Amino acid sequence: MGSLLVVSAHAGDFVWRAAGAIALATARGDRATVLCLTYGERGESAKAWREGNSLEQIKQIRREEATNAAKALGAEIEFLDAGDYPLVESPELVDRIVRVYREVVPTVVLTHPLVDPYNGDHPAAARMALQARVLAQAVGYEAPGEPLGAPPVFFFEPHQPEQCDFKPNVLLDITSVFDTKRAAMECLPAQQHMWDYYTDLAKRRGVQVKRNAGPNLGLPHSTMGEAYVRLYPQVTGELA
Ligand SMILES: [Zn+2]
Repeated sequence: MGSLLVVSAHAGDFVWRAAGAIALATARGDRATVLCLTYGERGESAKAWREGNSLEQIKQIRREEATNAAKALGAEIEFLDAGDYPLVESPELVDRIVRVYREVVPTVVLTHPLVDPYNGDHPAAARMALQARVLAQAVGYEAPGEPLGAPPVFFFEPHQPEQCDFKPNVLLDITSVFDTKRAAMECLPAQQHMWDYYTDLAKRRGVQVKRNAGPNLGLPHSTMGEAYVRLYPQVTGELA
């Protein structure tokens, strides 16, 4: 059985960018775990602030929304409440992430790209996700569980891909689970403006899935996609 770990800076990020991959994983019986480093309480909750909620109320709102979205996807979810805007990198926080790796034992890891001039929390989350992965592999690193293997890491698509040097080299066909992704998105009313944006993006990526798959696969006109960048080389005994 596979185990997918998604390291998300804020409570909503995993939904827009990776819900298709998560839903595909759980649909085939794999375990999927979302690790939200923060609730996105300061930086990605403008509507809740304008409605006059307190910081603690906003955290609770975002926690509930993200929990519902994870449930819609069949995923487990964990929050570290590390504080956003800014998300501060620290050895203590990396150590907490190492412990999640050792418990979840991921066979695949998804996180943010390392460049995002619009949002410093996203690359910070990615740096910590990568550092924790390396530490979790070390036999001598003191944390419960066994040393980690070498799960591949994929960066999911940022909101402004061109500015983030995001050039996809993996296109994921999410057609069979797109309704589930849409249902997860609709669990986040605080960011309602994103629902149609990410539906349209999935259509455009779907066109690219079809184009790159070629005509022989006979993918339907309605193909939906998500784009990823694979960080480490793929290991294979056969080029295909
Ligand atoms: Zn975010």
